[in-house]
Amino acid sequence: MTARILVVDDIPANVRLLEVRLLAEYFDVLTASNGADALEMCENGKIDVVLLDVMMPEMDGFEVCRRLKGDPATAHIPVVMVTALDQVVDRIRGLEAGADDFLSKPVNDLQLMTRVRSLVRLKMLTDELRLRASTTRNIGIEELLARREPESEAKPKVLLIDERPETGRQVAEMLDHIANVDLVADPHVGFFQAAEGLYECILVSTGFREFDPLRLCSQLRSLDRTRFVPIILMVGAHEDDRIVRGLELGINDYLVRPVDRQELVARLRTQVRRKRYNDHLRLSVTQTIEMAVTDPLTGLHNRRYLDSHLQTLFERATSRRRPLSLMITDIDRFKSVNDAFGHDGGDEVLREFARRLRKNVRGIDLACRFGGEEFVVVMPDTDASVAEAVAERVRAEIANKLFTVGNEAVAVTVSVGVSSLKGGLDSVTDLLKRADVALYEAKNSGRNKVVAKAA
Ligand code: GH3
Ligand code: MG
Ligand code: MG
Repeated sequence: MTARILVVDDIPANVRLLEVRLLAEYFDVLTASNGADALEMCENGKIDVVLLDVMMPEMDGFEVCRRLKGDPATAHIPVVMVTALDQVVDRIRGLEAGADDFLSKPVNDLQLMTRVRSLVRLKMLTDELRLRASTTRNIGIEELLARREPESEAKPKVLLIDERPETGRQVAEMLDHIANVDLVADPHVGFFQAAEGLYECILVSTGFREFDPLRLCSQLRSLDRTRFVPIILMVGAHEDDRIVRGLELGINDYLVRPVDRQELVARLRTQVRRKRYNDHLRLSVTQTIEMAVTDPLTGLHNRRYLDSHLQTLFERATSRRRPLSLMITDIDRFKSVNDAFGHDGGDEVLREFARRLRKNVRGIDLACRFGGEEFVVVMPDTDASVAEAVAERVRAEIANKLFTVGNEAVAVTVSVGVSSLKGGLDSVTDLLKRADVALYEAKNSGRNKVVAKAA
């Protein structure tokens, strides 16, 4: 996992110290000696993590952090503030400026590597989601992504798994004002509760009598429902090896017992904030992709989806030598519906038509709005005679029951062309073409008809 780290400090010796250590771990390192340079490099430099000294002349670290977090172009870059030892006031100011983490000088090697690694991992996930979000933006739905949710202030739901009741209660009390904490002593129970409980962070305390805390972490990581829930490990004083193993397994952060209240609160906040940001991105990407392949009027898949998916279904059928059929439907004299009831009335008919269509095909059939008042249904594993029967059922379902527009009943009919896969040389285009020819025949021979072209 290589990444680009920016080290910012006005004292060259401090820069050099961190640079050497990071280079030894194969990170790519850039350096800056003042805030203005740092800001510029973050805007242009594809920086993955910033290590930021607090005390600098002109612009101090807090101000640099505030500006980074205030600019949408750089707000997602994790910032680690490097503070003088035990400067509690600095930590609070750093939090207020939006810092993601802290390191105290002199910087401890394990802390440096673990904090940087865990932030890099989070950043990669965020980058991946941002990339997908901006790719789907090309499809043309920008407003969804632009709609930035305001940062939620709701208390996060946190699960604390600690076998020793005293320390468990103590930590739960420290978090009482900022989180809703469920405390569980038994790690097995904790695992199941984590899977059920929709938590935003899980705190795992080491020191179970008969259970490996890292096994619990790895189980949480492999379960779908907890895969993206941040885990903070709470360890004893001499458990460095365990921290390193834990980070390899995907824990997000750690705390050393006895737990410092301020540090606990800061680390929990950071994890929850990141999770919420990523959840929001993930949801936007999913919604955007869904919108890009869905017809908004009928809720059916659209032509774009058909174009890509029909090819897949076609190849699957050919390679498995399974039948495949499709039908194209076109509502008869639809223009006259629009003329009589207006465009909105026409839309109402289209929606009801789509409902009836969906009701009369199987779940595995792919029903799409092909455009205007034309629809396509692709039927995998369906031969010509069955497809023709399905088409006939659809035709009857439309013709035999009146539609309603406003308060008026309207008779609607549909013409349907059906085609099926031929052995030998055939293509998606041929399949669609044959159905289209069949549809044309249905129209020409009086409408309200099904015509099938098996081959
Ligand atoms: P036929 O297919 O039987 O030959 O006659 P038709 O009147 O249905 O044929 P044509 O394809 O010429 O007209 C289709 C009409 O569908 C024209 C267009 O205004 C209307 N239309 C297309 N898309 C929509 C839509 O989204 N909403 C509404 N209300 N009308 C639409
Ligand atoms: Mg038409
Ligand atoms: Mg028509």
